[in-house]
Amino acid sequence: MHHFSYNDGRLFAEDVGIEALAGEFGTPFYVYSEATLRRHFRVFADAFAGADVLVAYSVKANPNIAVLSTLASEGAGADVVSGGELQRALRAGIAPDKIVFSGIGKTRDEMTAALEAGIYQFNVESGPELLALGEIAAALKKTAPVALRINPDIAAGGHEKISTGKAENKFGVPWSQARGLYLAAREMPGIEVKGVDVHIGSQIADLAPFEAAFKKVATLIADLRADGSTIDRLDLGGGLGIPYGEGATPPHPDAYAQMIKRVTKPLGVQLIFEPGRMIAGNAGILVSRVLYVKEGDERRFLIIDAAMNDLIRPALYDAYHDIIPVIKHADRDSAIFDVVGPICETSDRFAQARRLPELKAGELVAVMSAGAYGASQTSEYNSRPLIPEILVSGARHAIIRRRPCFEDMISYEQMPDWLS
Ligand SMILES: *Cc1c(COP(=O)(O)O)cnc(C)c1O
Repeated sequence: MHHFSYNDGRLFAEDVGIEALAGEFGTPFYVYSEATLRRHFRVFADAFAGADVLVAYSVKANPNIAVLSTLASEGAGADVVSGGELQRALRAGIAPDKIVFSGIGKTRDEMTAALEAGIYQFNVESGPELLALGEIAAALKKTAPVALRINPDIAAGGHEKISTGKAENKFGVPWSQARGLYLAAREMPGIEVKGVDVHIGSQIADLAPFEAAFKKVATLIADLRADGSTIDRLDLGGGLGIPYGEGATPPHPDAYAQMIKRVTKPLGVQLIFEPGRMIAGNAGILVSRVLYVKEGDERRFLIIDAAMNDLIRPALYDAYHDIIPVIKHADRDSAIFDVVGPICETSDRFAQARRLPELKAGELVAVMSAGAYGASQTSEYNSRPLIPEILVSGARHAIIRRRPCFEDMISYEQMPDWLS
């Protein structure tokens, strides 16, 4: 459920007309619905009501500080994967004791910053990383609370580029080494083992891989306890899919929660979740204007002013996004289009052979479900400046990231003295 809908044939974000935003800020831009962000967080959190749960929003899905601060006000924690994300979460007012730090390549500086902030948990993905963390913590006279991320060797079923739980993936401690590393961790100064962590992938549309992975991890917890480790926490990662308008409909958070309660109840652990897409995905859209309608010999191209540097998911993951007109004209026929951006890459394409209303140059389109892994994956490829992000709340709107000007864009560049 989201709050982007037509009123009298015109698309609105909550009570704000998209056309008016395009007039005020120019295109392309992202617009997010605060009510949708809040609603998705509540649906997820409420599904686990009564259980001991920390919902740590995955910052990489959409790291805008206004988005983080909206979620912080709902009680969200944060799952961060870099020092930059840690600083964003803290800046947005998320308490350090609700922050978990994931990722396979944490640097020593990042570990130091997180230890100094006093975060809740480090999700550690290898023996060498654990040694480094222990060394740094001991030098700071601190103890790092740790869960080891375990690779359960389970295929998540989604696109191969967002599957993380197979043995051939770079993520997690290999299943065969897990017990040994927990034993070693107990002897390491600076390390306090708290729990187990697993995250098998993203945009997962089916409960079966989750259930298989979580059951496997439950058996590991029994083994670890038999070995004498104290395991109080189980971090089950993120990965729950969202409807993108095509393909299988992912399970509702309630069904996901029922399954998890069934599998984990006997363990008596605190549960940690790291949802990203499920919270932010359908809370944002990308608005773009049609530049030209180009009649190819074999295809018709709708050339829009947004491109793969603004939203890379179709190019990177073959992702499907619904594309809809901002103004619906009842009398328009439909036609088949390739919807493409201006960038000099064939993969700069939002949709292939898509049936859409006959759109004309100058008209606006909305690329739906772009709130997660949209703005967060942007670049300035082709020297296209980053695009604005706008937050809507009821009838109010505010710019939460402005469009950089050309001078901003080149402000990190310098001439060497022999050229100037
Ligand atoms: C990306 C990521 C998430 C969030 O995944 P979603 O599919 O957006 O829910 C959670 N945990 C880790 C470790 C991740 O890398």
